[in-house]
Amino acid sequence: MKNLTILGSTGSIGVSTLDVVARHPDKFSVIALSAHSRIEDLYKQCVQFKPKFAVMHDADNAEHLRKKIKLAGLPTEVLAGPAALEQIASLPEVHAVMAAIVGAAGLQPTLAAARAGKTVLLANKEALVMSGGIMMDLVKQHGATILPIDSEHNAVFQALPRNFADGMSNVGVKKIILTASGGPFRLADAATLARVTPDQACAHPNWVMGRKISVDSATMMNKGLEVIEAHWLFNASADQIDIVVHPQSVIHSMVQYTDGSVIAQLGNPDMRTPIAYALAYPERIDAGVDMLDLIKTARLDFEPCDRQRFPCVELAYQALKRGGTAPAILNAANEIAVEKFLDHKLAFNAIAKLIEATLERVTSVPVHILQDVLNADSAARHMATELAQQINVTV
Ligand code: NAD
Ligand code: MG
Repeated sequence: MKNLTILGSTGSIGVSTLDVVARHPDKFSVIALSAHSRIEDLYKQCVQFKPKFAVMHDADNAEHLRKKIKLAGLPTEVLAGPAALEQIASLPEVHAVMAAIVGAAGLQPTLAAARAGKTVLLANKEALVMSGGIMMDLVKQHGATILPIDSEHNAVFQALPRNFADGMSNVGVKKIILTASGGPFRLADAATLARVTPDQACAHPNWVMGRKISVDSATMMNKGLEVIEAHWLFNASADQIDIVVHPQSVIHSMVQYTDGSVIAQLGNPDMRTPIAYALAYPERIDAGVDMLDLIKTARLDFEPCDRQRFPCVELAYQALKRGGTAPAILNAANEIAVEKFLDHKLAFNAIAKLIEATLERVTSVPVHILQDVLNADSAARHMATELAQQINVTV
């Protein structure tokens, strides 16, 4: 029996995780769940999975949930706040922690899971993009394991040799090729991109996801963040990581070897596949996913990634090459920009401009300790918020 904590259980990844878990009551037990503000959703999950702990972001919501739980006679203890998230990420009886909170809010609990030597099922890519070497060092120091949930990295993990940590070129790997669907605006011209609304940006052609990652997919910052994520997960340099646009989202990524072989992982675009893979690793279990029908799929198309129309990709490569706190600055500026765009306070094509301007003004410094990352995150948030007033191109 594997005991689980699911951080962000009411989100898109959290719900898919519980769907897989519910198919295997003999294999997994849910010890703790967490949500930001969806009381009713978390309550229903508590009824179904009877966790020991449930954490809400703020105390009022927690009190509300506590009353409902008491009334229903459930065994769940309700806690609140960031410290409680770290607590449920490091409980002694928990084996694996699904890190599925969106954005920087997931950083500290994910690091807590690493510090406690857990198996970290990493969906929250922003946490790794920000903290990079700090997270990877903690994992090593405390005997933790990271298994990637992001479909691309999960695919790469499946296609790499087991000793990949020795360095890409030492294990015969030439390139990691991340596939990108191209998002909803793959074929849009610059004029169209200027008028995009939040609902249009969140209507992804192949995946149903949370709103923040949906906007990231539309700007292709998601792929930029994934390049940085791949760098840390697989010990690969920026020039060993390529992006290819593949509109069908059937190949989830590939590894190219020096002998000319390319190993790809294919499947229907359904996050339950990488989630099930990581939950059961190294075994394979039913994920409830329809089997891929190759005849129906019929074609696999590939296109280059246009970094001029999607400047966020270029900004991410530059931040990775610059190193230090640059990826944390990139990530923080992006979180502010996406929030403002979703709030109708920033135009879609101003997202990249705001990130670029923030990167120009907040100096990247080397990362020695976690505080260096936290300082950069906070400085970049302040700068991006200030700059947004000036850039202020709204729709
Ligand atoms: P989502 O918005 O659907 O869910 C986010 C979850 O985090 C919710 O449970 C929410 O309650 C919680 N949360 C949000 N803000 C919080 C805060 N301040 N404090 C505590 N909890 C908070 O997002 P999602 O699409 O499930 O994505 C989650 C993470 O997984 C993101 O980092 C995303 O990049 C990554 N990811 C998602 C997908 C996908 O298909 N959805 C694929 C790959 C990677
Ligand atoms: Mg992905």
